[in-house]
Amino acid sequence: MKLYVIYGGKNAEHEVSVKSAFSILQHIYYDYYTVIPVYITREGNWFRGSEVKGRDSIQSKAELVDLKQKTPFSFNELIEEESVAFPVLHGPNGEDGTIQGLFETLDIPYVGSGVLASAIGMDKLISKSVFKEAGLSVLPYKEVKLRDWKVSRQDVCDALETYLDYPMYVKPVNQGSSVGITRVLNTQELIEAIELAFNYDYRIVVEKGVPVREIEVAILGNEDVHTSVPGELVKPKPFYAYEDKYLNQKVVREIPAKISGELTKKMRKMAADAFEAINGSGISRADFFLTEEGEVYINEVNTFPGFTSNSMYPKVWAKTGIPYADLIEEVIQLGLRRHKDKY
Ligand code: ADP
Ligand code: MG
Ligand code: MG
Repeated sequence: MKLYVIYGGKNAEHEVSVKSAFSILQHIYYDYYTVIPVYITREGNWFRGSEVKGRDSIQSKAELVDLKQKTPFSFNELIEEESVAFPVLHGPNGEDGTIQGLFETLDIPYVGSGVLASAIGMDKLISKSVFKEAGLSVLPYKEVKLRDWKVSRQDVCDALETYLDYPMYVKPVNQGSSVGITRVLNTQELIEAIELAFNYDYRIVVEKGVPVREIEVAILGNEDVHTSVPGELVKPKPFYAYEDKYLNQKVVREIPAKISGELTKKMRKMAADAFEAINGSGISRADFFLTEEGEVYINEVNTFPGFTSNSMYPKVWAKTGIPYADLIEEVIQLGLRRHKDKY
């Protein structure tokens, strides 16, 4: 069977995706598949590399973005032979249901959640409604629409300040990895942050900012949902920017998170509920906020979380008993099984 590992992508999380793909290519069980790397450039062009022969054959990330024989990728290839696609993509155009829709149309199996779950997971407004409907707590938030902003910034800020106290978090609705997100403390910062967020999306969500611990639970499975021990992102400061999360490696992870058994149980249950609520399949990471008072809020479900061998998702599974290479194999199998089970 041919396994197409697809990475890069036309979005702000391009670099993280290449890192994840590099790690994955070093751990795949090559005996089982013919592995073909497919790189999507920042401009959205697809290129195919030659077959990767084994765990040590790719030496650096640079090689992955500079595929030896830069052949344009043809989707015909996917349908001509028995194939499975592994979209190692984060953020818009990859984690949001768009590429999943393409695979559905081509009728080929793929790793990770389907169209609906991916789209809901990426949408910071719709996902909150879905979580609330499932009985999960979310922090207070409000939507800002571009057309209202154009009519009157003053009215929008007044409405936000009436409903929410500072600090607030301003976020583009469809993004990930903290891209376009700002923590704000006053009206001036609020305006600037909203302007910034509109560079990424035409819908924005503004949330109440709370001093929190950030606890994450990994999810694995289709109908049979399994959850990992929780991991904590230990923060030196209140807000993790993109650079902190992925590039500066300032992140300290505590695995398992130092929380009570009772809280652990509660969060694992909430993670499974959130996954089911968005109709997730395969993999996801549910991210929670834990307040000083011990209240738990769901922040988001990432349907394709960071997947380098050092990322939270593989790390919590390793601690739960599934080593990285087995995890990769399991998510591929889950993708194949979902495809089969549909019919
Ligand atoms: P992304 O999808 O980009 O990861 P998040 O909603 O997780 O977006 O926000 C990124 C980070 O910002 C979080 O990991 C957390 O550190 C901080 N953050 C976001 N919203 C809040 C909030 N309401 N209160 C406190 N911290 C927040
Ligand atoms: Mg996210
Ligand atoms: Mg997040």
